[in-house]
Amino acid sequence: MSALAEAEVALAAVAANVDTVTAVAGTDLMAVVKADGFGHGAVPVARAALAAGAGWLGVTSTAEALALRAAGLTAPVLSWLHRPDDDFGRLIAADVDIGVSTVPHLHAIAEAAGRSGRPATVQLKADTGLSRNGAAGHDWPDLVSWARKYEVEGGVRVHGVWSHLADAETSGGPGVDRQLAVFEEALGIARRVGLRPDLVHLANSAAALAAPATRYDLCRIGLALYGVDPFGAAGPGAYRLSAAMTLRSTVVNVKRVPAGTGVSYGPDHVTGRPTTLVLLPLGYADGLPRTAEGRAEVWLGGTRRPVVGRIAMDQCVVDAGDLPVAVGDPVVVFGPGSDAGATAGGWPTVAEWAAWAGTSPHEILTGIGARVVRRYRPGEPAIPRVGVALP
Ligand SMILES: *Cc1c(COP(=O)(O)O)cnc(C)c1O
Repeated sequence: MSALAEAEVALAAVAANVDTVTAVAGTDLMAVVKADGFGHGAVPVARAALAAGAGWLGVTSTAEALALRAAGLTAPVLSWLHRPDDDFGRLIAADVDIGVSTVPHLHAIAEAAGRSGRPATVQLKADTGLSRNGAAGHDWPDLVSWARKYEVEGGVRVHGVWSHLADAETSGGPGVDRQLAVFEEALGIARRVGLRPDLVHLANSAAALAAPATRYDLCRIGLALYGVDPFGAAGPGAYRLSAAMTLRSTVVNVKRVPAGTGVSYGPDHVTGRPTTLVLLPLGYADGLPRTAEGRAEVWLGGTRRPVVGRIAMDQCVVDAGDLPVAVGDPVVVFGPGSDAGATAGGWPTVAEWAAWAGTSPHEILTGIGARVVRRYRPGEPAIPRVGVALP
C-alpha cells in the first residue's frame, strides 16, 4: 500500500444501519448520499443502502443525481438544491424528483418540462423553521397554487411535500413540535389547492430514531446511515449503529526526544518529559481539523495516545510516551469505537473527533480529503461497535 492514509468503508455497516433505522422508524428510508455519500463514496453507499431495503436516494445537486444515474442506479432519487437556471431538462430526462422551494424555480422546471415533452416530478419544500431552503409564509400558498396549476396543465406532477428539521438532535432551535405544527399547516394548504402528494417527509436521522410524529411516509437518513449516533459521543448510544468508516494511517517517523522539545509549528506544544514522538502522514488537508489540537487522540500500539502540537497540512505528531513503537506501525484515527467512550479506550470515533474540534460529525466525514484512499469491503459483516482490537 502506498497511500499515506486509507478510509476503509464497511458497506455491510451501511446495510446494518438501514436495517436498524428501518426497525425503529418503521417507514421507507431515503439514503442521503449527498457530498459523495458523506465522504464514503455515493455510489457504493447507495448500492449497499438500496440492497438493504432503502427505497430512495437523496442528493443536493443535479451533478450528484446524474452521477447516480450514470452509475446505473435506477432507484427513485430526490435532488433539492438548484440554481434557478439549472439544467432541469436533464433531471427530468433522468427521472429524478426535483425538490422545489421557490416559484421562480418552479417556472423554470415547468418550462423545461414543456421543452422535453415530459412532465417533471417535483417535491415541494416548506420552510417550517430552519430558514434555509423551502417556502415560508405567503410564499408557500403561492408555490403550491402554481404547482397545482402546472399539475392540471400536465407539465408537473407533485409527488411529495416535505421539510427539514432544525434541531431534532439538540434543543435551542424552533423545536420539533413547533416545526411539526407548521408542517401540518403547510400540508393543509397544499391539500386545499388540490394537491395529493404520495410522499410526505420531514425526519432526518435524529428524528427518525427519536421523534415518531415526524416520520410520515419516509425518513431521510444521513448520519445514521454512516453509523454515527446523531445524539453525539455523549448521546444515549442506544441505537447500535455501526460506524461505516475507519480512517487508518501508518507511522512514518519515530524519535525519542528529551523534555523541553518543541513539537510542530509554534511550537504550541513542548514535551514535559522524555518521550517518543511519532509522525503521522495526515493533516488538515486530509480532514484532521486543526481545532482538535490539544484534545485529539488516535489508536496506536493498542491504546489511545494524544495528538500533540499543531496539526499541519500534511502531518501531525502523536506522543507515544514510552510505548514501543516503530516506523510502519498501524494507526487508527477513528472508527467503530466503544460504547463507554474515551475513558474506556477503544478506537476514537467520528463523534469524538467532532467534539474535540467543536464541530459536527458531518463536517469531519465530509472533510476527509482527496488524498485519503477509500477502500471497500463489501460482503463483510458489520464491524462490531464494542471491544474492538486493532487487527
Ligand atoms: C443532509 C440532509 C439530511 C440528512 O440529515 P442527517 O441529520 O445526517 O440524517 C436529510 N435531509 C436533508 C434535507 C438534508 O439536507
